Amino acid sequence: MKRMKQKRWIWISFVILLMAGVAGSILVMRQNGAEQVEIVQDGKVLYSLDLGSEEDRLIEVEYEGHVNQIEIRNHRIRVLEADCPDQVCVRMGWLDSAAPIVCLPHHLVIQFAEQSEELDAVVR
Ligand SMILES: [Zn+2]
Repeated sequence: MKRMKQKRWIWISFVILLMAGVAGSILVMRQNGAEQVEIVQDGKVLYSLDLGSEEDRLIEVEYEGHVNQIEIRNHRIRVLEADCPDQVCVRMGWLDSAAPIVCLPHHLVIQFAEQSEELDAVVR
């Protein structure tokens, strides 16, 4: 009986440690250049931007005669206008760390840099 109890405590402290580790690494990730954003087309990085130091501006990205207007404002980034049929990228609004902005018809992805590193790790 006594040993069972001990085992359970080891298990619980293991879970707590694990959770603390995950929370810690998320915090570190956010501090280490969570502002670094990449605009990727067909797997090629067109722009690598540091949102923390970017001025407000518009970036135009072309794909076979089609255009995505990307807006940087107040250190955030979004697709302002696009002539793709689904308009999903426009409706996604400002980029947050939860999900990249994707324009499938134009093979365009806007994402935080460390998300792509994670993806690379998974692919490899
Ligand atoms: Zn689109």
